[in-house]
Amino acid sequence: LHTVGAKNLAASTWLRCASSSSKPPTIKNWINGRAVESKAKDWIELTNPATNEVIGLVPKSTQAEMNEAVESCKQAFRTWSKTTILQRQQIMFRYQDLIKKNMRRIAENISLEQGKTVADAEGSTLRGLQVVESCCSVTFLQTGDTMHSVAKDMDIHSYRVPLGVTAGIAPFNFPAMIPLWMFPVAAVCGNTMLMKPSEQDPGACMMLVELAKEAGLPDGVVNCIHGQHEAVTFICDHPDIRAISFVGSDTAGNYIYERGSKNGKRVQCNMGAKNHGVIMPDANKEQALNQLVGAAFGAAGQRCMALSTAIFVGKAREWIPEFVEKAKKLRVSAGHEPTADLGPLISKKAKERVLDLVESGVNEGAKLILDGRNVKVPGYENGNFVGPTILHEVTPKMKCYKEEIFGPVLVSMSVDTLDDAIKVINENPYGNGTAIFTTNGATARKFTQEIDVGQIGVNVPIPVPLPMFSFTGSRGSFRGDTNFYGRNGMNFYTQLKTVTSQWRQEDATPMDVQMAMPT
Ligand code: NAD
Repeated sequence: LHTVGAKNLAASTWLRCASSSSKPPTIKNWINGRAVESKAKDWIELTNPATNEVIGLVPKSTQAEMNEAVESCKQAFRTWSKTTILQRQQIMFRYQDLIKKNMRRIAENISLEQGKTVADAEGSTLRGLQVVESCCSVTFLQTGDTMHSVAKDMDIHSYRVPLGVTAGIAPFNFPAMIPLWMFPVAAVCGNTMLMKPSEQDPGACMMLVELAKEAGLPDGVVNCIHGQHEAVTFICDHPDIRAISFVGSDTAGNYIYERGSKNGKRVQCNMGAKNHGVIMPDANKEQALNQLVGAAFGAAGQRCMALSTAIFVGKAREWIPEFVEKAKKLRVSAGHEPTADLGPLISKKAKERVLDLVESGVNEGAKLILDGRNVKVPGYENGNFVGPTILHEVTPKMKCYKEEIFGPVLVSMSVDTLDDAIKVINENPYGNGTAIFTTNGATARKFTQEIDVGQIGVNVPIPVPLPMFSFTGSRGSFRGDTNFYGRNGMNFYTQLKTVTSQWRQEDATPMDVQMAMPT
């Protein structure tokens, strides 16, 4: 094990220290406030993407364990849903403080299991922490509506109540941030949640549920099980689970949306993306190119909001050689190496997929103007590394454009006008994010008005909204109708109850029998 990682693994109670045994440590289920060894027969290898060493074993939790976890959520809901909003808010205050104090430890663990640089892991954990901070505003976000005197002596008030047991299914690329989009929001609204982190890097989520207990979250409010398809199907089918939050690929998202909805559950699914960055010839060149480099290749392109397609408009196409030079300078290494700008891909399979898509682009006529396929990383020869790669003159018909690559590969095209760029983007089925780089306000306004994408950056390369707003990916990138976090997130995990009441003075004249609707 790596020095940084080994220290973390040993320090953490969710993994048994490897030193006494040749068998890799096991990830535990988290049931009723305790880390519990799974009785699973099938285990998934947890690997360090920079070396492909096996650093842990993740169980495919058994049906009995998953049922026990739901039962624990169900029991906890009885008392948790009756706690006051101020009690839940106080836990969130303590929780945000504990996450801050443990940020580095969480980030190092993410770097070990997921591969991204420690600095980037810290930044992404911060974005999750901000969601917890916004949960402290539950007293404002969950207020209801009241109207007095809608009829004689009659008032109506409408307020939000929790749903019950909910579930969260998370992807590998943000192992702390995305679970934090889910269980704190569900819990602060009075729900309980069954979490299923990604089987490829569950450690950060386990650390976070452990910290939630330390913050005062009662046992059973969050439980954690592990696995792949079977665990997901269990969640979609379990009659006691009322709502599912999912973030991940299209294949899994469409399956979960359809199966969960068919079973009467409320479902929100954030899915794949193909985000375009439009570079106008009037942009601040240095700033635009630097931002594009970071947004295309940061986290080795494994961000749902990565700018994976660049559209150079008009004379901006002359900047492409300069852009290539900037991308060439990026240093590829293991995420915990201080020199690393980008780390490895999550798995060997992910690397093979990325290389196949680059190959398909070349075969279909794209120009490979930067080739990172054979990058060598001294000391990490067995890692899943791909260096920054740029395919130019890509067309919308090519496979490398149609599919989400999810690697450090930028597909690039040049067009003559802003209208041409808007047309390309609006014809793409995804609607997660897009950005324009320009110094012209009218150009920016036209773009934001005409573009059919849910999250737009103007001179901001990765426009992920802060949690006082919501994450509003659209079209092919989202299924459901209530987005993650912010007021929408709170609405997702609550339902409205409306009370119409009439209190008449004792001396008021009794009402006559009324058979028709009052007019
Ligand atoms: P993934 O869909 O492979 O896995 C996500 C979760 O679904 C995991 O917990 C996994 O166990 C489960 N799963 C995987 N395949 C499944 C299947 N066929 N049936 C049922 N369950 C399945 O996604 P990933 O590779 O972990 O994450 C990368 C994807 O997530 C990319 O497509 C990325 O764009 C997307 N993503 C989207 C957002 C967003 O907000 N739109 C954010 C992060 C990641």
